[in-house]
Amino acid sequence: MVEGIQSPALATYWTIQGRVLFLIIPLLGTALFAYIVGRRLIPLVRAQRDFRFDQPLIRLGRVFKFWLGQWKHPRYRFAGTVHILIFAGFILLAMRAFSLLIIGAIPNFVMPGFSGRTGYIYGILTDYAATIVFLCMVVAVVRRVIFKPARYAVPARYGKGHPADAVFLLALIAILMVADSLFAGTKAAADAQQGQPADFLAVLSLPWMMKSMLLSVSRVKLQGIFLGAYLTHEFTFFFLLCYRPFGIQFHVETSLFSIFFAKLDREVLKPVRWDVSDEHLDQVKSVGVKTFEDFTWKHMLDFYSCADCGRCSDNCPANSVGRPLSPRFLSIKGRNYAFQHYPVFSGFKNGNSKPPIGSIYSDDEIWSCTTCGACEEECPLLVEYIDKIVDLRRGLIDGGKVPQSLQKPLKALESRGNPYGKMEKKRGEWTKGAEFQQVCRVKTFEKSNGAATLYFVDSITSYDERMQSIGRATARILDSIQENFGILGSAEKDSGHEVRRFGEEMLFMALRDHNVEAIRTSGVRHIVTSDPHAYNALKHDYTGMPPVEHISQVIARETKAGKIKFAPVKEDRVYTYHDPCYLGRHNQIYDDPRDVLDAIPGLRRVEMKRCRDRSFCCGGGGLMLFYEPKEDERMGVKRVQMAAEAGANVIVTACPFCMTNIEDAIKVAGMEGRMTAIDIAELADRQMARP
Ligand code: SF4
Ligand code: SF4
Repeated sequence: MVEGIQSPALATYWTIQGRVLFLIIPLLGTALFAYIVGRRLIPLVRAQRDFRFDQPLIRLGRVFKFWLGQWKHPRYRFAGTVHILIFAGFILLAMRAFSLLIIGAIPNFVMPGFSGRTGYIYGILTDYAATIVFLCMVVAVVRRVIFKPARYAVPARYGKGHPADAVFLLALIAILMVADSLFAGTKAAADAQQGQPADFLAVLSLPWMMKSMLLSVSRVKLQGIFLGAYLTHEFTFFFLLCYRPFGIQFHVETSLFSIFFAKLDREVLKPVRWDVSDEHLDQVKSVGVKTFEDFTWKHMLDFYSCADCGRCSDNCPANSVGRPLSPRFLSIKGRNYAFQHYPVFSGFKNGNSKPPIGSIYSDDEIWSCTTCGACEEECPLLVEYIDKIVDLRRGLIDGGKVPQSLQKPLKALESRGNPYGKMEKKRGEWTKGAEFQQVCRVKTFEKSNGAATLYFVDSITSYDERMQSIGRATARILDSIQENFGILGSAEKDSGHEVRRFGEEMLFMALRDHNVEAIRTSGVRHIVTSDPHAYNALKHDYTGMPPVEHISQVIARETKAGKIKFAPVKEDRVYTYHDPCYLGRHNQIYDDPRDVLDAIPGLRRVEMKRCRDRSFCCGGGGLMLFYEPKEDERMGVKRVQMAAEAGANVIVTACPFCMTNIEDAIKVAGMEGRMTAIDIAELADRQMARP
């Protein structure tokens, strides 16, 4: 330490020598922090297994991208930029903070390698970092207190918000920045007064301003401010460290791990139990989440890692139409439950005494999710929701709590392999119309083998009269490009995609096993489907399948190859494309359908505000068609309004479930005649220039 101002290590505080005090505070602070975190880990130890240790290099890469690179934050431009600045500031300041802590015990300590030019540059960077973090804290407080963004609001049904807590934490960080800057500024001011060579402080930074303000202050006062700033920094640092695990700021510690252990293949549903194979599933006594400890340790870690930023709920279609579901609060309530039942400073309240459904979550909340994936797409910390919701549903189903409206379709799926209870032999009826047969003959594997491609139709397109038109359009397209294809006919059963997402794992397994056997027997080398739910099931829920394509991929490919040519559209209408969740978000097929539309001469296309990975779910496919949730408004109606706002009067989609919801919504919204919907296969078939 430069002569003239006494180092904190050499000063005396309440009769305790600084060197001793600043050894005790870090030791006590670190020990307390370790104890608190240890207690917080106990529910994770008692939780279900979760296999998250594969592909460590890929996981590390994701840490660089999503944690260090803050990849998802700019999706909310302003808040994201503020967060990136704070995060970058923290990363930069981390070493400066540690050096400062060590100075309490070792005067004049300089981090190895940080004397000379490196230290000079690092000093400038951290002076600005402290300033920017401080300003960001001010901005964040102003936003919370004055502007109050809607996504931070806490609806009455979820209890009360805690804005004071948030402001308190922001204030603590601001104090930390001020104390750090004051320490550096005071020292520089004292050095300047003594005519000593002072540390260079970055111009217009907080430390530089402090120094400028203190230049004329007496040495005695400077000494007091200097030691006071150090003490404040030390206490605030360790107070913050130990306080964070009691609230949302715990994500500072846990988010890195949450991201490292995040699911690598988001579209693949979690198995019922990681350590139990399908064959032994019937021996599992209890399926799904019935007690808090039935969540996996990673799911509990997610509860700790949620930063309460509200982005997931802001994008959740269920939340936006007033269904009793807000993904953000699934996490907050989970965390509150963990904190209450596994307290840090008292005995555990018998962690598994109250089942989560009923005590923290309601049945309606859990059934309201369409598994659209918008929440997971948005979350900057890769918090997972679909697996948790499906696991909770598995618990409900296992406990016999099947919603009334779903009982019939589930029974029908069990007995007939489709949710409508229709005869198996009628599954291929859509191919039988005389008019259709004049232009296209569809082989059925029961009668004729040898086709290279299977058109997997699935239940809705097979049985729903309106959707059969999508089936016929798909078949005509495949026929036009001379694809040697066929269908399974009565040998096909429902893909089970929604059954699985509704938590009926055993029924899903029965449907899957039947289809896998039928597909293998058919000997096909390629599968095409016009249903994104079937696509997702065949690609991710089934194993050992030949390559699977959605019809939009086939059309785009063949258009590029010149095998498909389109005639110009005749009417002057404006088209918009609605991304089905299981084609877009779950499988990243965004461009092929758009390429098809853009290849049609004269077709005018506009994008809705919410498109591609921010597409707005139309209301849920599959069994959601049979479930009537409590809601203020239909998702489909909202979606149709979005299309109208974009200036479109034709909605093109690529999923029979979307088609059902959107066509219904057009009627409900009273927009018949002004808005129509068409499937991409129907549109391509209509516009195909055939010889
Ligand atoms: S889950 Fe993710 S997006 Fe949702 S509030 Fe928490 S951190 Fe934000
Ligand atoms: S998957 Fe979709 S509906 Fe379900 S919670 Fe997430 S955003 Fe909401």
